[in-house]
Amino acid sequence: MEDKFMLMIPGPTPVPERVLLAQAQHLIGHRSGEFSQLMGEVVEGLKWLHQTQNDVLMLSASGTGAMEAGIINVLSVGDRVLVGSNGKFGDRWVKVCQAFGLKVDVIEAEWGKPLDPNAFKAALEADTEKAIKAVLVTHSETSTGVLNDLQTIAAHVKTHGEALILVDAVTSLGACSVPVDEWGLDVVASGSQKGYMIPPGLGFVTMSDRAWQAYERSDIPKFYFDLGPYRKSAAKNMTPFTPPVSLFFAIQVALKMMQDEGLENIFARHARLQQAIREAMKALGLPLFTADDVASPAVTAVMPQSVEAEQIRSVMKQEFDIALAGGQDHLKGKIFRIGHLGFVSDRDILTAVAALEATLAKLGANGFTPGAGLMAAQSVLTAA
Ligand SMILES: *Cc1c(COP(=O)(O)O)cnc(C)c1O
Repeated sequence: MEDKFMLMIPGPTPVPERVLLAQAQHLIGHRSGEFSQLMGEVVEGLKWLHQTQNDVLMLSASGTGAMEAGIINVLSVGDRVLVGSNGKFGDRWVKVCQAFGLKVDVIEAEWGKPLDPNAFKAALEADTEKAIKAVLVTHSETSTGVLNDLQTIAAHVKTHGEALILVDAVTSLGACSVPVDEWGLDVVASGSQKGYMIPPGLGFVTMSDRAWQAYERSDIPKFYFDLGPYRKSAAKNMTPFTPPVSLFFAIQVALKMMQDEGLENIFARHARLQQAIREAMKALGLPLFTADDVASPAVTAVMPQSVEAEQIRSVMKQEFDIALAGGQDHLKGKIFRIGHLGFVSDRDILTAVAALEATLAKLGANGFTPGAGLMAAQSVLTAA
């Protein structure tokens, strides 16, 4: 049915109507006083969301652009880096590092399992020469729905003393706490189409004082993503190049909505939605791809047995106008992923679970009790 489309994928995420309408305004000049005022307000909101006093810079880019900007601004050609990878986005860190001539050591974990902080501890302790210049970690691994133990890994990096920590917080920011200052995160990358509740197109990157010191030494060629000019312009609440002005209108409204809800409430909502989805899947006999204690608050991966994941996705879309995400790489066709990040409410979860039950029935899935998923979700959502 037209105009009933519902995104339950981990990006792009649903956008509130107020935000959509904000983008419909006439543009303003990006060298105007109005724009500076807007940008000043947005930057304050971003610092609040990141729980930081560090610079938060905005780029016209998707999340990967922000990741790339982080790397090329604090590292130099030939630097040794340690990358954690337990999924598609960990692999992306590896690829970006390799593209810029860094020497990459990878700490891997099986897809669906979390990274082992002790493996980082051991590698960092063994590095007595202090050759490791950076550790790169994906906080919420969107491809599998695993939340890595960033806090512990960051603490090991601090003990090392030399390495910086660069974090992909693309699907953790705005879903669970990412206290940039408290955890000492040097560079944190994110993208607008995830927890920010706005369309794709803006990338965000935070830079600590230590990251700026490393910037002074960095010799990787850069121009558009050279963060120096962004920092200089930001001091005057400006951008070095033409920014996506409409997205600035959008994020101003979205950040206001987030501030009205409050950080703790946002995190609690995501935890509740996540739990409701997980309990519903269990009640329906649909195996979860990740264990409860390492599950991402943004996305849940499910590995159905008696029906095909792709068939489920297809019926959900055709019959119910609900988009679910599929598996990536070797998980293609094996899992489907339910996004519950950003502008998602209890009602959305109930709708998705009900539609999923109807889909299972239509596909002739066996061994599930109609209504069991809804009851399980409901009981989580109505618990005090
Ligand atoms: C979406 C996402 C990205 C960024 O992808 P883009 O398509 O470049 O925005 C990076 N990391 C994770 C974990 C993501 O979920």
